[in-house]
Amino acid sequence: ADHLAEFEDDGDLSPEEPDSGPMPVVAVVGRPNVGKSTLVNRIIGRREAVVEDVPGVTRDRVTYEGLWRGRRFTLVDTGGWDPEASGMALRIAEQAQVAVELADVILFVVDATVGVTDADEAVAGVLRRAGKPIVLAANKVDDQRMELEAASLWSLGLGEPRPVSALHGRASGDLLDLLLDAMPDAPPQRFGAERGPRRVALVGKPNVGKSSLLNKLVGEERVLVDPVAGTTRDPVDELVELGGKTWRFVDTAGIRRRERELKGADFYAGVRTKAALDRSEVAVVLIDASDVLTEQDLRIISMVIESGRAMVVAFNKWDLVDEDRRYYLEKEIDRQLVRVPWALRVNISAKTGRHVDRLVPAIERALDSWSTRVPTGRLNAFFSDILAATPPPVRSGKQPKILFATQPTTEPPKFVLFTSGFLEDTYRRFLERRLREEFGFAGSPVEVTMKIRE
Ligand code: GDP
Ligand code: GDP
Repeated sequence: ADHLAEFEDDGDLSPEEPDSGPMPVVAVVGRPNVGKSTLVNRIIGRREAVVEDVPGVTRDRVTYEGLWRGRRFTLVDTGGWDPEASGMALRIAEQAQVAVELADVILFVVDATVGVTDADEAVAGVLRRAGKPIVLAANKVDDQRMELEAASLWSLGLGEPRPVSALHGRASGDLLDLLLDAMPDAPPQRFGAERGPRRVALVGKPNVGKSSLLNKLVGEERVLVDPVAGTTRDPVDELVELGGKTWRFVDTAGIRRRERELKGADFYAGVRTKAALDRSEVAVVLIDASDVLTEQDLRIISMVIESGRAMVVAFNKWDLVDEDRRYYLEKEIDRQLVRVPWALRVNISAKTGRHVDRLVPAIERALDSWSTRVPTGRLNAFFSDILAATPPPVRSGKQPKILFATQPTTEPPKFVLFTSGFLEDTYRRFLERRLREEFGFAGSPVEVTMKIRE
């Protein structure tokens, strides 16, 4: 029974090192030898980016964390991706395309001593269409005399070229100022006071014990019935204080109305469940532990999976489960819930109150996982370690590589891997498992997708 270990409140509910928010991503693009690595070193203030290029091997570190005027950002050196590109202009343009997709700001580096080349033109074409903020660095402007040459880069149609000398540090502070100004504003803190109570959907087939549980949870607590404005048949939520926090149990009117007594109850139960899930952040799925798992239970679990919500599975009526049944049940649960080994599980009795107090910590844990963001630098260091230890299987003679990984969104956490080839499903599942081992995500779905750059 390695899936769905019963949730115990171990008192440690904080997600691992939650980031304070997404860091803006700056991608450095440009053809080889214009000075990208030198500039990256200058920006991060270390001599780290220049790694001995082993022919045919992608430099393993391509992301760095930068800090300027108190603002943190992630710097991606796209030059590290493919040092020996053939068909260069095209390859560089492709590289720029990937940079455009993943970055908030693009730092385009051109060698002012050489002037505009075909490859530079190709990149500029991609960047002009991108609609992302671009800072154009005219590099190798080591002295005043060179500034005149830099002016020729106006022809790229990307605005004012900014003369800089990565090697000597000339004007690099000005360049950082420009990058900072081009970054999106720091996002508002999502965990601020204005966020409001977290939204919980209590779902499960009729008679499983939803209203009993609601009554148990609510108990003597203050309950506020909160009709949601703007709808004709208002779904009614209840605001309940539990564990020192206020929670919004969504659409409890549907639970309390006991619709199983109505005609077409199954159909309405489905519609209700869907609506409640849409409005929730975390779902508590009730399953009757005294009975076999039914089609309907599995359908509801599928609905939760599709909704992308955090999930806690509560096996209710545990007071009716005896030793014999328990043994059989554990096996059945493992078999039936293989699709959601990540769901948190509690065994409760809404009737006796057994372990009902474990529900709130489980919900909190699931929500923490659901909102967890892994800092880009840490994510890339993690993948680089995995790739070194367990590289993906070779396909048609080629070893796919993960060039860069990013987590564009949370709730639920989504990861995008920029790869140099197709990663097999089994390998992606392996990566997801490792991600979960490393960063937690108990109670939350996690999505891993890839973007292939052939
Ligand atoms: P990348 O391939 O774009 O990453 O370029 P590198 O950072 O490896 O630099 C290529 C060459 O240009 C190296 O020999 C650097 O020393 C040189 N270089 C980089 N920046 C400057 C600069 O500002 N001035 C001068 N004179 N040389 C530079
Ligand atoms: P709902 O349709 O999901 O809201 O289910 P109810 O809360 O109305 O419960 C259906 C029936 O199951 C009622 O007769 C409850 O008393 C009973 N029930 C609910 N929870 C438990 C439990 O933990 N143990 C036992 N033995 N019965 C329960």
